[in-house]
Amino acid sequence: MPHDSPNDESSKNTELPDKMAIKVKSLETLLVSRGLVDPAALDKIIDFYSNKVGPRNGAYLVARSWVEKDFASKLLSDPTPVLKDLGFNGRQGENIIVLKNTSKIHNLVVCTLCSCYPWPLLGLPPSWYKSDEYRSRSVIEPRKVLQEFGLHIPKETKVKVWDSTAEIRYLVLPMRPEGTDGMSIDELSVLVTRDSMIGAGYALTPEKISE
Ligand code: FE
Repeated sequence: MPHDSPNDESSKNTELPDKMAIKVKSLETLLVSRGLVDPAALDKIIDFYSNKVGPRNGAYLVARSWVEKDFASKLLSDPTPVLKDLGFNGRQGENIIVLKNTSKIHNLVVCTLCSCYPWPLLGLPPSWYKSDEYRSRSVIEPRKVLQEFGLHIPKETKVKVWDSTAEIRYLVLPMRPEGTDGMSIDELSVLVTRDSMIGAGYALTPEKISE
């Protein structure tokens, strides 16, 4: 199963699986031809979430949670007011649940039906997240799928898969990497990859960044 590595933000991410691309295109054509959707407005929305938001908001939340315990507990127990205060709410992010990865539990997020994803926190989903293969296999054999992403989850760590819906989207707080003591929120946020906030990756170590 091919996956994009955390550092590989290549054009592969923008490609939809063939079947889905055709369905989306047909739907778009229909909506535009009936005057229900303005293609320019659609382009603006896509540009906003793919280029202006991206995964930066999510990375900030993770990095701040690593540094500020109070912030982390608020984010985990009741994220809605925290996200609202920061302006990280809105379309496709109305109800967010934040999940914390630890040495005891590893959370992985999927949308088995389509591609529900927390847009205001992570931007638009990568192509693998929308693929039939990921959507079906991650619930059946999550450890194997994680292995293919390069994650070897110890046997004693429980793997929990969360199925997103139109109502509920998830954000994973990855574990803080070793060797990051004393780093600022800004420095830490560079280590937080998009995949780590889906549960399909680990946050990077500072050594990895300087490679
Ligand atoms: Fe969905």
